[in-house]
Amino acid sequence: MFLRIDRLQIELPVPARADPNAAAALQELLGGKFGEMSTLNNYFFQSFNFRNKGKLKPFYSLVASITAEEFGHVELVTNGVNLVARGPDIDVKNYDVAAAPFAAVRDARATANFFTAGGAALPADSMGAPWNGSYVFSTGNLILDLLHNFFLENGARVHKLRVYETVSDPVSREVCGYLLVRGGVHAHAYGLALKHLTGVDMTKMLPVPNIPTDKFPEARRYMAEGMHRRLYRFSPGDYAEIGAIWGNGERALPGDPDGELVVVDGHPDGGKIPDLAGISTAFTPEYQPEEIFDIAGKLYKAFKSS
Ligand code: MN
Ligand code: MN
Repeated sequence: MFLRIDRLQIELPVPARADPNAAAALQELLGGKFGEMSTLNNYFFQSFNFRNKGKLKPFYSLVASITAEEFGHVELVTNGVNLVARGPDIDVKNYDVAAAPFAAVRDARATANFFTAGGAALPADSMGAPWNGSYVFSTGNLILDLLHNFFLENGARVHKLRVYETVSDPVSREVCGYLLVRGGVHAHAYGLALKHLTGVDMTKMLPVPNIPTDKFPEARRYMAEGMHRRLYRFSPGDYAEIGAIWGNGERALPGDPDGELVVVDGHPDGGKIPDLAGISTAFTPEYQPEEIFDIAGKLYKAFKSS
């Protein structure tokens, strides 16, 4: 089962203005073939379907704990899309429904972010094509599934690098920078798991593509604090067996800041989830939201005094 914590894995800056086309680029990291929904659902199904969990504890725990981290990555990219996708900024004071106030949306890269979601994220790629279950690979063959996960993390890396090369706003770059570091950890971890099982040291081919992660200023900060050496259990008491793979004297990859690999109990401290205001002119949460704000306020007050 899952425990939910109302925090983002990192704190994101709040942008001064909307940039729906940057949001479309970020959508690739959410619902693209190599997006966070794909890593989440791959590990999700593999960990649920896993046979001989008891006898294969270190490998089961690895896939299971990374599943929980990927849930948080989906949440992070979704919040990033929300921060930059609010629909082209309009002057709400001089708003006139008959004057096509959102006409600029027609020229946005992914119009569905506005038309369907009201300026928010969708389970879709940068072209608005829906994420789909055929991206999930769960054969039950441990080596094949781990090999797929290694490939998937590197596929995700090439997408993050390319998205990074297209965006200049601080939110999108922060999302890419953090996820590049965490994806590097996962590729490294799956490589170590495969080395234990087969003797083949896949970690020697990392990073793929072969550009040092610390070339990216937003990633460099996380590496300087050792984020590339940490794997989280994401559980109050379970999955400690990942230490048999992520640990055991193993060190950071050559080229990254050196140090031992460490398992962190629990989860990262993380940062606040942005509390974005609705867009009444796009009817979120309502055209005149005061009444439902009032209902929620009274409801909470009655609950607190009961
Ligand atoms: Mn991820
Ligand atoms: Mn990952």
